[in-house]
Amino acid sequence: MIHEGGTSNSKPLSVWKEKDSIDRVEVEALVMILKTRGCSWSKRSGCTMCGYNNSVFPDVTSSDLIMQVDDALKSYDGEQYIKIFTSGSYFDPMEIPLETQRSIAMSVGSSAPSARLLVETRPEFINRQGLEQVGRYMDILEVAIGLETSSDNIRMENINKGFTWSDYIRGGRIVDDTGCLLKTYLLMKSPFMSEAASIGDCLNSIKDVHEEFPGSRISVNPMNIQSRTLVERLFRKGLYRPPWLWSLMEVLGTGTQLTKGETLIMSSPTAGGKKRGVHNCGECDPGILEAISSFSIDNDRKLLLHHYHHCMEDWKEHIALSVSDPLYSDMWMRSRS
Ligand code: SF4
Ligand SMILES: [Zn+2]
Repeated sequence: MIHEGGTSNSKPLSVWKEKDSIDRVEVEALVMILKTRGCSWSKRSGCTMCGYNNSVFPDVTSSDLIMQVDDALKSYDGEQYIKIFTSGSYFDPMEIPLETQRSIAMSVGSSAPSARLLVETRPEFINRQGLEQVGRYMDILEVAIGLETSSDNIRMENINKGFTWSDYIRGGRIVDDTGCLLKTYLLMKSPFMSEAASIGDCLNSIKDVHEEFPGSRISVNPMNIQSRTLVERLFRKGLYRPPWLWSLMEVLGTGTQLTKGETLIMSSPTAGGKKRGVHNCGECDPGILEAISSFSIDNDRKLLLHHYHHCMEDWKEHIALSVSDPLYSDMWMRSRS
């Protein structure tokens, strides 16, 4: 973490540097989270796992947003990748006015003309004009959509995401057609879903996304427990356990086989190895997280092979129970730990 912005609206929420990959080669990325008015969907309804509405700044102005970006860019030191997150949607005009979307891109483009810029958005805010006016200042614009799952049923009922697979396809096509890159986020283990079912859902989703957008990038995001969410309430009552690292390895390894290595599949878990994030027993977590981080650069499956720890037997037991008794398997598993 380079810095946190404190209470000032003209400073970003946080800025840091991290490793990522471009064309399967490791690169450094500069990441900033901007303070914005927050996600429109979260104000109207909101997703069951999302605590981003805890970071809402209703008084932020357009000039604050530009100052936040300029402040974050002071830390720019030749990184090839710049990520701007907003705890919502970059292309939502209620969150970032259209003219400000363009001004921010202009600032980034003049500081880092050859960098790739990543922004996140819900698909309903994607249109050709918006992408072109931001993309014209960047070498490459990458647009991430939090699809979460290719199943409309799970996205609507378990996550309350409020958009459909066909909305995602429409947005993804525009991203493709305007020469931008598409990144798709998949959520691993939605609430009210067993461990085994979550593996199956992730693999189906990887296959579906790959069929529609071969060669795009997929990020598998295992659930992390965010505060003041429905998922946190289930977690506190012992009714929800975040997924196992063994499950994540299974999804990454098998997913890469399913897509024949054509679509890069990565994971950079929030709270990995902690009780509120994807975890195993604690002892074997650091080594597995390290392997997943290296695998995410170039999808070399060998990095995921030959990992074993005795907790793998508990995981197998949990998977078997979650097939036969999905409702109580998490509760039972948590009561033993
Ligand atoms: S997950 Fe995304 S769309 Fe859902 S409430 Fe959070 S920021 Fe909004
Ligand atoms: Zn272990």
